[in-house]
Amino acid sequence: MEARTVGIIGGGQLGRMLIEVANRLNIDTVILDAPNSPAKQISNSIKHIDGSFTNAEDLKKLSEICDVMTFEIEHVNVESLKNNTSNTKIYPSIATIELIKDKLIQKQHLIQNGIDVAESIPVASFDKETLLETGSKLGFPFMMKTRTLGYDGRGNFVVKNTESIDQLLKNDPNLKTQSLYAEKWAPFTKELAVMVVRSINNKVYSYPTVETVHVDNICHTCYAPARVDENVQSKARLLAEKTIQSLPSESVGVFGVELFYLENGELLVNEIAPRPHNSGHYTINACIVSQFEAHLRAILGLPLPEGFTSMTTNITNCIMLNVLGKATDKKDEEKLLYENTLNTPGASLYLYGKESRPKRKLGHINIVGNSMQECEAKLQYILGQSTENTT
Ligand code: ATP
Ligand code: MG
Ligand code: MG
Repeated sequence: MEARTVGIIGGGQLGRMLIEVANRLNIDTVILDAPNSPAKQISNSIKHIDGSFTNAEDLKKLSEICDVMTFEIEHVNVESLKNNTSNTKIYPSIATIELIKDKLIQKQHLIQNGIDVAESIPVASFDKETLLETGSKLGFPFMMKTRTLGYDGRGNFVVKNTESIDQLLKNDPNLKTQSLYAEKWAPFTKELAVMVVRSINNKVYSYPTVETVHVDNICHTCYAPARVDENVQSKARLLAEKTIQSLPSESVGVFGVELFYLENGELLVNEIAPRPHNSGHYTINACIVSQFEAHLRAILGLPLPEGFTSMTTNITNCIMLNVLGKATDKKDEEKLLYENTLNTPGASLYLYGKESRPKRKLGHINIVGNSMQECEAKLQYILGQSTENTT
């Protein structure tokens, strides 16, 4: 079907789900990550590279043995990719990764392209005077973020008021060594997300708008479609498409666009993920072509026919629940969750082959149905909050 080899930078759960599709389509893949990483567990190839996506030599090795390289994680060593002298195509491009990887540069790019975001300003140093000054510019509370390497809210700090600054400086002395910026507080009523696919000839296609619910900064559930007006759903899709269209040329593949839906009805872009995204896992069961397959098709220039992002005709709603590792004395609850899922019509369990640690993303569950009410009833059963699994 496809003679070219795809190199995947990172072998976590996103890489694993890319591999599942690649296997089905006879697409040859090479993974760069630690031995036995989730993606490698399901792909038997002597070509995989045991190493790190932050290591220049390992990235060079990968580029030499594949035709197209892509990412399942953006926290890579961009500098070493720039020196790549092989003919390997890199999608999305290095310029795209570079722009997205630094959240402040990403925000500045969005502002320059007329895309609404929360006001964002650099924080030159992590001291009381600077934070007070930042607070007087943005108002309290405001959000402080590390410019790079943040995920699941790690690297974000809420500065509540002037009194909380001393405590923050005392609690997090390590922040002194990081590049930081501050964001104005976004008074959102809901968080939305849209997966967007950009093809080699620069066409963009969006998936239905979803609603993400976070608990302790980690995505807990995702409702597809989002429980907001259809009007708002369409506006969110258009904004996400415009966002991805604004990226440099060769920004090919799938992107996650996170959005804030504000009290006053406005939509702001929170951040872009240059890869498959947690809020797109629902597409595996609910859409005609999943985000993972769409990514591979896009980077290989394979067909993306009309309506491929639509939900299937027999599924109108989906809830995705992330499976997080429980505390050590509550491991039985993980097993019960899996059993309940397997017992539920319309529910599918995806486990990533990771060792359980508290709050670690171990897998996800997709629950499909013909109404949100039906999906919600099934979710309650799976979570052990009701005894009925077939409503
Ligand atoms: P991810 O795991 O999605 O990559 P992240 O660590 O990159 O997360 P952000 O997406 O920047 O972090 O922020 C995490 C969460 O913090 C958001 O989903 C939102 O709930 C909240 N948040 C972020 N920025 C703001 C803001 N300016 N105002 C209010 N809440 C915010
Ligand atoms: Mg992020
Ligand atoms: Mg985020």
